[in-house]
Amino acid sequence: MCCFFRVSIAIVLMGVSLGCDARGDLSPAVTGSTERNRSSSHVGVVPSGGGQAGTASEAEVGSNESDLAFEAARRNDPALENARTNGSAAKVAPLRLLVIGAHPADVFDQSGGTMAHHVKRGDWVGCLVLTHGARVHDKVVSDEMFPRKEIPDAQEVKKTILERADLKTKEILRACSILGVRAENVFFLGADDAVLLVNEPMIRQMARLIRKLRPDVVVTHFPLENAGIASQHATTGQMVMHAVHFAAGIDPGDKTAPHKVTQVFFFGIGAAATRTDLWDSQGGFHNDVFIDITDVAAKKIACLDEVASQGYGGAYARKRIESIDGAFGSRVKAPYAEGFISLKSTTHYYLPVSKLDLEHSKSSDHKAISRSSYRVKAPVPQRVRKRRAEKSILE
Ligand SMILES: [Zn+2]
Repeated sequence: MCCFFRVSIAIVLMGVSLGCDARGDLSPAVTGSTERNRSSSHVGVVPSGGGQAGTASEAEVGSNESDLAFEAARRNDPALENARTNGSAAKVAPLRLLVIGAHPADVFDQSGGTMAHHVKRGDWVGCLVLTHGARVHDKVVSDEMFPRKEIPDAQEVKKTILERADLKTKEILRACSILGVRAENVFFLGADDAVLLVNEPMIRQMARLIRKLRPDVVVTHFPLENAGIASQHATTGQMVMHAVHFAAGIDPGDKTAPHKVTQVFFFGIGAAATRTDLWDSQGGFHNDVFIDITDVAAKKIACLDEVASQGYGGAYARKRIESIDGAFGSRVKAPYAEGFISLKSTTHYYLPVSKLDLEHSKSSDHKAISRSSYRVKAPVPQRVRKRRAEKSILE
C-alpha cells in the first residue's frame, strides 16, 4: 500500500516537484508556493464606512460585517444590505481558486477557459495534479506498447514511465503558463495512475495543501462520473470531497489552521448532461453553471497543443473545443462554454440573473444563431506542425 503513495517520480522543475511520502506528509517541494499563507479573512466583502448607505450611523451599527448583517436583518433594510454586499464602499478581495485534476491535462482540458478568466481578473489560480498520468493514452507507454506481443521487462518499463511523466510535467507547466497560472502554483502529487483508489494518505496530503493554499473555490471532477465505477476522475472527485471536509478541521502534525472552502464546482460531465430548462433535469444532477469562454477559446486550444504526449495537439485540440465546449456553449447561446456542477446552493440578496443571460434573452433568433456560429481561429502553430512532422504527435 505504501508503495502506491511513495514518491514514484521526483522531478524538480522551476520550483515544482513531484513527490509525496508514505506518511502522507506534503514535502516542502509539493507545498512550495510563495503565496499560500494568506488568511481566509481576505475573502469576501470588507465594508468600509459602516452604515454609509443606510439610515444607521456607524456608531449605531458598528463597523464590522457581522454588525452590519445583523442590523440589515433587523431593519429589513435593502439599502443597508446592499452596502454590505454590493455597495461602492465595499471591496471584494481576489478569489482563490484551486483546480484539482486526476491526470495532468485534466485541469485545463476541463476548465482552462475559466482559469484564464479568473487569472485575468486578478484572482489567485492554482492547480493540483494527482497522478503523473504516464499511462493515460500516452504515445509511448500506451500506444507503442499496445500492438506488441510482449512488453519490455519491469525495469525498462518503469524507466520509460518516469521519462514520460517528466515530459508530461513540462507540458502541463507550459500549458498552464499560457493561461497565466504561475509554475510555483502548479502542484503534483506524482501518484501512479495504474489503479487509483480512494485512500487516506492522499486525502491527508490534499487536505494539508488546502489548509496551506486556502482556496475559496475548489474545482474538480464530479464524484459520480461514470457512476463512480473504475473512474480515476470519479475517485479524484471523491477524495477531494473528503479532503475539503478534513481541511476544515485540525490534523496533528500540521500546524496550519483549518480552512473552509466556500464552494466546490465539479467539471461538467458532457453535453448530454446539460439542460436547457428545469424540465430537462428529471430530478437528477445537471450542469448548472456555465462560463462563456469564447474570448479565451484560442488559449485553451494552445494549451491542448502542448499536450503532444497524448496526441492532443493539432486537429484533436480543435475538434475537442468544437465538440465539448461548443456543445456546452450551444445550450447557453454562447459559441464556447465550460459547464460546471455546483456543490452547494448559493445565497444572494436579489435573484441572480447574469448580464450575459439578459443580453442573450433580448437577442433575436437570427442574432443568437449568428453569435453561436462564431468559430475560433487557431492555426496550428509552426512548432506543433514541426513536432507532428517529427511524429511526436499522433494524427
Ligand atoms: Zn483525466
